[in-house]
Amino acid sequence: MKVLDLRCAHGHGFEGWFASNEAFEAQLADGLVGCPVCGDTAVVKLLTAPRLNLGHPKAPAESAPSADGEASPQALWLRAARELMARTEDVGERFADEARKMHYGETTERSIRGQATREQAEALVDEGIAVLPLPMPAVLKETLQ
Ligand SMILES: [Zn+2]
Repeated sequence: MKVLDLRCAHGHGFEGWFASNEAFEAQLADGLVGCPVCGDTAVVKLLTAPRLNLGHPKAPAESAPSADGEASPQALWLRAARELMARTEDVGERFADEARKMHYGETTERSIRGQATREQAEALVDEGIAVLPLPMPAVLKETLQ
C-alpha cells in the first residue's frame, strides 16, 4: 500500500492510494488517475509533501480573480468540494461495492463518491482499483443532504 502525493496540471494537490509504485505508473499510463477536483489526468507524483508548501509565495498561474483579495484556503477547498460533488454520484456506504462492480464491468463506469472504511479502501487498492480518499468538509455534508 502506497499513499502518494499527487498534483494535476492545474496545481490541485491530492493523495492517491496504490498497491505499489508500479500500480500507480500502470494506472497513470491508462489514464485512470484523475484529479478529484477537475478530472485532469495529467497527474504527476510529488517527491515532497505538498502540505509543507502552504504559503508558497509564488501565485498560481490560473488563479481566479477575486474582488476583495485572496480567498481563504477553506473557501477555495469548499468551492472545489462543491464542484466535485456536482460531478459525482453519491453512492454512500455502497461505495466499495459500486467501485468494484465498475472495475469488473458489472455496472456503468462513472464518477462516484461515498464512504468506505480504511479496510474497504485497502482491499480495493489491492485489487488494482483506483481510490482517492477525500475528506469532505462537515459543513458541506450538512448543507447538501
Ligand atoms: Zn485538478
